Amino acid sequence: MSASSPAPVLADSALNQWLASMGLAVEYVRAEGNTLYYRDENGREVPVLDLACGFGSLLFGHNNDEIVEHAKSVLDARVPFHAQLSVLPHVNAVASEINRIIRRETGTDQYYSAIFANTGAEANEICMKHAELERRGRVSELRAEIDEHVAAVRAAAGGGRLSVAEGPHVPTGAHQDVASLLTAVEQENAERLANARPVFLALENAFHGKLVGSIQLTQNAQWRTPFTALAATVRFVPADQPDDLAKIIEEERRTLLDVVVDGDVVRVVARDLPTIAGFFVEPVRGGAGMKPVTPEFAREIQNACAAIGCPVIVDEVQSGFGRTGTFLGSSHMGLRGDYYTFAKIIAGGVTKNSVALVRQDRFRPEFEVIHSSTFAKDGFSGAIALKVLEMLEADGGRAYRMVRERGERLAGALNAVRADFPDVIKEVWGIGLMLSVEVADQSDAASERIREAAQSGTFGYLLSAFLLREHHIRALPAGPGTRFLRVSPSIYITDDEIARTEAALRSLCSALRDQDDQRLLPS
Ligand code: PMP
Repeated sequence: MSASSPAPVLADSALNQWLASMGLAVEYVRAEGNTLYYRDENGREVPVLDLACGFGSLLFGHNNDEIVEHAKSVLDARVPFHAQLSVLPHVNAVASEINRIIRRETGTDQYYSAIFANTGAEANEICMKHAELERRGRVSELRAEIDEHVAAVRAAAGGGRLSVAEGPHVPTGAHQDVASLLTAVEQENAERLANARPVFLALENAFHGKLVGSIQLTQNAQWRTPFTALAATVRFVPADQPDDLAKIIEEERRTLLDVVVDGDVVRVVARDLPTIAGFFVEPVRGGAGMKPVTPEFAREIQNACAAIGCPVIVDEVQSGFGRTGTFLGSSHMGLRGDYYTFAKIIAGGVTKNSVALVRQDRFRPEFEVIHSSTFAKDGFSGAIALKVLEMLEADGGRAYRMVRERGERLAGALNAVRADFPDVIKEVWGIGLMLSVEVADQSDAASERIREAAQSGTFGYLLSAFLLREHHIRALPAGPGTRFLRVSPSIYITDDEIARTEAALRSLCSALRDQDDQRLLPS
């Protein structure tokens, strides 16, 4: 390489180019509370109000003093970071505290066993694996029952007393005698079992991660479809449409054949073969622009899963740990999980951590070694998780109350803008401090440049760039067509910051109403 050729960019090369093309290529050098700082051309720090807050992880803000002090004390105390395959009391302490809070909030008398991981996607994949173990268990039980019935009929048929009853489930050509019927039933079942594959259900436009398994639960076609061959099939259920849910469950219904003796005939009956391994539900769908599941649909989900025996897997990665003003986002719609996943806030903004909970009556203890990771259960993240839980629960749950109070105030400000610009802001979505603003579709806009941006699917990023450039506010898109701007600050958002957010949104709305492409999309 000649001395003059620039060093190659080996990480985030394409991403940084894209950020630059959107007007979002900013390097932040410091972060505190709700503020990120970049340096201007004179080296001076410029504060930016961060409404993205780690896409939900920073409920207590960037580099929260109390968490940072605690982190330092844990490091100073030389608490073991890694001591795998030893007794780790912090793991049980975190699991117990989460259980205590869930039991209080949901009124359940059940306990949940915990498997720790590193990321939200990993916690969801733990649930996929555990749910598949459970499903296989249910299949084995059914097979054992059928084997027993077949053996009993075979033994009883020895005397020639039994004949085969006509019926829709009798395999073709197996009417003549009981012995050939039983052989045909066994062959048919073997074939059906060989073709049976697990299926997961997930809500349309929910987000559940980007690993090989979890990306199949995340509907975005660009991220998901290249990898469908690598993982279990997922059927997407439109949120809030019970008829579609029933239809999908019926379409996925598979059966095995069983035999019953009825007087002197043998009847063939169909038994439901468990195919649906679990139903992933994100109670407030980030990928749909923070739309909460309705209580009615939560009930439908609950009933449908109970009827087919599969677990309801509630993904609380973003909505959990206080983000919506309760510990669980699912508490708002009365949804109860057989499994729960948590990540993001549990890590206090200074580490990485996640956990999957499985209700103990479903939990398979062997899973504690079936899934593990070098970095899961480390002492540092455990100590931080305990600190975060302590901060959430302090003063009789002051943090939850703050989320509700700040959230109402913020939503009030956003709704005031909507009231004045109903042609520009369609809706304000979300609960607590998990909010979004839905901007009206601009693909028919009068301005050709705005129209083109809207049609290209990058529109929301251009709105983000406008807010950053003109108002020093960081709000990033979420949801379909990038038309939803995520507003999920920390609980420390001040009245002044809410007023700034409102003013910035008003200026954005004016520019959109005026179709001012010079301001919105400077070349
Ligand atoms: N589930 C939900 C609801 C999420 O919001 C996210 C992250 N945005 C994930 C899962 C994946 O978490 P991670 O990025 O930590 O893998």
